[in-house]
Amino acid sequence: MRKNIVAGNWKMNKTLQEGVALATDLKNILNGTKPNCEVIIGTPFIHLATVAELVKGSVIKVSAENCADKASGAYTGEVSAAMVKSTGAEFCIIGHSERRAYYHETYDILKDKVQLALENGLQPIFCIGEVKEEREANKQNAVVKAQLEGSVFNLNAEDFGKIVLAYEPVWAIGTGLTATPEQAQEIHAYIRSLVTEKYGKEVADNCSILYGGSCKGSNAKGLFSNPDIDGGLIGGASLKAEDFKAIIDAF
Ligand code: PEP
Repeated sequence: MRKNIVAGNWKMNKTLQEGVALATDLKNILNGTKPNCEVIIGTPFIHLATVAELVKGSVIKVSAENCADKASGAYTGEVSAAMVKSTGAEFCIIGHSERRAYYHETYDILKDKVQLALENGLQPIFCIGEVKEEREANKQNAVVKAQLEGSVFNLNAEDFGKIVLAYEPVWAIGTGLTATPEQAQEIHAYIRSLVTEKYGKEVADNCSILYGGSCKGSNAKGLFSNPDIDGGLIGGASLKAEDFKAIIDAF
């Protein structure tokens, strides 16, 4: 059966020392507990090796927030999927709306990143979601369908089975606006129906689909209690151990 997951996305926050302090706080606060979900923290590249070592033996797993669309070579400043894997990270967020919008990551670039992450033994957390104008024009279903078709529906069923999907309405990210549980459930069910159509019921039933967008302790339970919402991708509320724990506790 599919896993429930609460995954943090620190974005471009925290120096290395601050990140170590946050990971230590989270490790301590979760120590001796048995969360009813997988717990992942997505950190900037420079934190990965240190944080992965720090959380070893705990319930916490580590994710990168991005990886390069090339395997290796003369790409100054880039970090490859193989490099990410070598830090001890197990996941890689790919296709976050901030990367699509600010770094012009196209469907094809994201397709290459997903492929490289999988080839290097990382599980992609693949983000999809519509912007405000698309929601207002009731185009959200067409948008997520195109995003899936453009970057991940090329995979065979075995590889697709390794992917975690994250539905993140862009209008809800960092804005304090959250999709209602009904809005989120409706589109999560639609996303799962697309996976069923493409890969069949078993793959779709096993696919974890996370919600992201101003998720916090106070609204997590309402979101996660829906049949097609298998957890959350958490930005702002992942930056304090107690806030993140409150979301984990929603399961
Ligand atoms: C995100 O960036 O993935 C996110 C969901 O951010 P926030 O929780 O801050 O809206």
